[in-house]
Amino acid sequence: MHKLTAPRRVKLSFISVLVMIVSLQLSNNLLASSANPIQEQALVEGRLIQGGWALITVPPLSQLQWGQREWQADANGQALIGFGRDQSSLIQVNVKPSDQASFTIEIDLTNKDYLVQRIDGLPQRFVTPDPEAQERIRRDIAMARAAREIMLDRTDFMTPFIWPAEGTITGVWGSQRILNGEPRRPHFGVDIANSTGTPILAPAAGEVTLVADMELSGGTVFVDHGFGLRSDFLHLEEIYVQVGDQVEQGQLIATMGATGRATGPHLHWGMSWMDIRVDPEEAFDLPRRLQCGDQVIGNRVIFND
Ligand SMILES: [Zn+2]
Repeated sequence: MHKLTAPRRVKLSFISVLVMIVSLQLSNNLLASSANPIQEQALVEGRLIQGGWALITVPPLSQLQWGQREWQADANGQALIGFGRDQSSLIQVNVKPSDQASFTIEIDLTNKDYLVQRIDGLPQRFVTPDPEAQERIRRDIAMARAAREIMLDRTDFMTPFIWPAEGTITGVWGSQRILNGEPRRPHFGVDIANSTGTPILAPAAGEVTLVADMELSGGTVFVDHGFGLRSDFLHLEEIYVQVGDQVEQGQLIATMGATGRATGPHLHWGMSWMDIRVDPEEAFDLPRRLQCGDQVIGNRVIFND
């Protein structure tokens, strides 16, 4: 049987390994005694929580379908799935192996709590952009969406991540943002504040799939870690990579800045799986959720309590 390699060490409270075949209705005993048990199993391993992601192992080259999303397992039968901020707790993924009946994997997610974060004093043009800025924002969104459709056959995400920058946590993922008193979309990243010029390192290896100067996010870089999972780095000052570059984990890719919509120099580190925003914090084994005021020093988080 194919050996499943855990993408990283994970907290026991968040990990579950699930074997569920709804359409075949096989009991564990039947599975164990089946003549061809490997073909009838599915494993889901990872952080089964809003904002997390998990490795799915199914028969090689199976087609996967979840709502509108369709993707394919690789020759080892592996694929990823990511879970959004407001994803309801029961997920059903249809699996179509190339040479046998379809079956359904059910994933039961844990919910997350989200903060409400107020940011005042932003230039009003960033809260309610003028028509020309809105046009540039639409262009930027289309560019980012195209980069999020890329699915690379690489497994850099399996290596434990490192922190991309040192500094103070000033924003956590999923918080509801109220900008100058107006509710806006949730914050889909982890903010790390430090001085302009602070090095930004690739948290995992990958391929650079977007480098742009954007209206809201300023200097922007996407690094794709494979299987639809990628990092985005926003508000960058200097950028040292180009689209198509292969970067190593820990490689200097940029420096911290305050470009785009930013009140001061910080890195906004976002992650996504396909079009779904996931939480970079889920790449680490932390004893508790990040909070504003926590420090990243070296590759460690020093909690502010
Ligand atoms: Zn941010």
